[in-house]
Amino acid sequence: MKDTINILDLCESGTNVLGPGKRYVIWVQGCPFNCEKCTTPEGIPIRLNKLTPIKSIVESILNNHEIEGITISGGEPFLQASKLSKLLADVLQIKPELSVLVFTGYTYKRLDWAKAKDFLRYIDVLIDGQYIDKLNNGKELKGSSNQKIIFLTDKLRDEEDYFYTKGRNLEVIVEASSQTIIGIPSRQLNH
Ligand code: SF4
Repeated sequence: MKDTINILDLCESGTNVLGPGKRYVIWVQGCPFNCEKCTTPEGIPIRLNKLTPIKSIVESILNNHEIEGITISGGEPFLQASKLSKLLADVLQIKPELSVLVFTGYTYKRLDWAKAKDFLRYIDVLIDGQYIDKLNNGKELKGSSNQKIIFLTDKLRDEEDYFYTKGRNLEVIVEASSQTIIGIPSRQLNH
């Protein structure tokens, strides 16, 4: 349990619709918020889902030589802050060039506990705040306009245009028995 992360899913092959460049995605399980029309409601229940060894996720990230970064979404990543810090420390020690983008339902100023502060040290861009469906403007790489795109380092500063005007796209992954939509939908596409 100690060296595992409770995940909802992974996108190990990478996607181009959750941040600049091709990115590995980790969706964690469990969120203390319950935003109306959350685009990932299956990630809300705080329950054990796929307990996945940190080591295996690190290896999977390091074995993907096409990605430019990692996106962590949910569920609520800060519920597993210390485990995600460990994962990012291990990855960035070997590939410091990878960028890290994290979506959280907490506002930045509420992330004031020690483990949250430690996790923030590994994050280049934080998109904060709960999703409010009526404020979904369909443009920026965030669910709704109350949320903020916060550049915690300069690593992705050159990509500001992507975050503010070009980032909204969807990708559909079709597998034998399922179809998954990745990306941030506009309001009318939300369920
Ligand atoms: S914070 Fe994010 S994952 Fe949690 S309920 Fe809101 S939209 Fe869904």
